[in-house]
Amino acid sequence: MSKVFSRGEVAKHSSEDDIWIIIDTAVYDMSRFIDMHPGGAFPILEYAGKDATDAFYGLHKQDVLIKYDRYKLGTIANEKPQIMFYQPGDISKVPYAESSAWMGYKSPYFNENHFKFRIAVRQILDGLKNEAREFEDSGERPSDKFVQKLGAAGLLAANIGPDAVQGFQLPGGVKPEEYDYFYEMIVHEEFARWACPGLGSGILGGMTISVPTVINFGKPELKAKILPLVLSGKKRMCLAITEPTTGSDVANIKTTAKLSSDGSHYIVNGVKKWITTGAFADYFSTAVRTDGGISMLLIERTEGVETKLIKTSSGSSAGTAYVTFDNVKVPVDNLLGVENEGFKVVLSNFNHERYIMLCGATMAARLVVEDCFKWANQRKVFGKRLIDQPVIRNKLAGMIAQLESMHNWLENLTYQMNHMDYKEQSIKLAGPLALCKYQMTRMLHHVSDDACQIFGGRAITKTGMGRNIETLQRTYKFSAILGGSEEIMADLGVRQALKYFPQNARL
Ligand SMILES: Cc1cc2nc3c(=O)[nH]c(=O)nc-3n(C[C@H](O)[C@H](O)[C@H](O)COP(=O)(O)OP(=O)(O)OC[C@H]3O[C@@H](n4cnc5c(N)ncnc54)[C@H](O)[C@@H]3O)c2cc1C
Repeated sequence: MSKVFSRGEVAKHSSEDDIWIIIDTAVYDMSRFIDMHPGGAFPILEYAGKDATDAFYGLHKQDVLIKYDRYKLGTIANEKPQIMFYQPGDISKVPYAESSAWMGYKSPYFNENHFKFRIAVRQILDGLKNEAREFEDSGERPSDKFVQKLGAAGLLAANIGPDAVQGFQLPGGVKPEEYDYFYEMIVHEEFARWACPGLGSGILGGMTISVPTVINFGKPELKAKILPLVLSGKKRMCLAITEPTTGSDVANIKTTAKLSSDGSHYIVNGVKKWITTGAFADYFSTAVRTDGGISMLLIERTEGVETKLIKTSSGSSAGTAYVTFDNVKVPVDNLLGVENEGFKVVLSNFNHERYIMLCGATMAARLVVEDCFKWANQRKVFGKRLIDQPVIRNKLAGMIAQLESMHNWLENLTYQMNHMDYKEQSIKLAGPLALCKYQMTRMLHHVSDDACQIFGGRAITKTGMGRNIETLQRTYKFSAILGGSEEIMADLGVRQALKYFPQNARL
């Protein structure tokens, strides 16, 4: 059982080699830690024998107390902690830190099982967060063991959607047949709470955009071979379309696939650039130029395939790669869909890719809004809390209003996805998803900018209080460029709407 002390007893431990401090009624022995304290000895010595709660929370996140729990001696007698302590799976009580259904508002979209599911997923991912952050910070390849933990929990397939989870055991006892796009939304949001965009891309980025090409266009034997390996985390997969000279204008790709004289395989030559997860990938779902047009091939990492890591603004555990295909032999059975009709395969993926990005983006913004709200409440400058300044409240208002508008649109689109078959989705949702993505990344731009101003120096410091703010301002442009850039999204959205513009409409 934890020991109990009086404040008087703690006060006796106030010499340089015997330092106790109190943080929200918990008593810590800092004597051995003082030399390791990243902020030096001085800030600790100032509070030797005293209550350091305000000073601690002015400089550190609560995570630090969990990390250094071993220095905790006990608690102060007859006193209750005043600060909420986060437990894995907890739903935040900070206004706007969760989407409205989780803040006690009525929702037409979510049922009891969605609530159970979010808690179960959050518990699992909270349990893996420290490990996730180690990969993010080191830039290392996410280990097989780590990825396979997600696979075993059904959380790799859960990212790909209702079709992919059939046959899996899902968190919270959710049955695969009840798994709809609102469950999928929850999964993307919960992964975004790691605030590890590099690692997230390395584990999920390549997989989520490439696996559907096999599910929807692969031959049965190819599906049977590849899907169990990738969805369990035993193998990694990516989508290779972009080339050094061809980005937005996909139709201009130059990588070639020539059919061998006996018709048994293609010979692939060419290069691909910025391929997420490519550095670790075993399989590359690849756009190639065949004799009569563009085709998609599933290429295994084999002789002639080489990958080189490209460093980007997110962590290198994204595995973003430059990929070279040098006379690579690919069996004809690895053709995805029909020869020369690969463009269909490429296009088929875009709506879902954009949907995934939208879900992650709202949660990335939400984390930042939560941190800003907390920080503005606890940070005192010129003798006042930041939240007491009207200009700071005005910034928070703008952030919240933009975030909530976007999230509500996204929930509406999720509902549409639940009630439309693939064909209807393709016709009706490509435009709204593109416009939603365009507006979402504009929202990220404004939220990130205001959050930086609220956090000051901490917003541009990688570790510590501003970690989530720094991460967003460094990486939000990924969503504005990948999966269709803002300009392309805006243009697509309006062009799609124009298709249905009544020719007889007049002002
Ligand atoms: C980190 C990272 C990961 C990526 N992952 C993958 C991956 O896994 N697989 C893959 O295949 N690709 C991937 N990409 C490629 C990505 O999809 C492309 O970067 C994107 O399509 C844009 O292409 P580009 O960079 O060549 O820009 P460009 O096509 O050269 O465009 C440059 C700018 O001009 C604007 N522009 C282009 N055309 C128009 C137009 N018609 N009207 C108005 N403005 C226009 C665009 O908005 C863009 O901002 C990745 C890229 C990065 C940076």
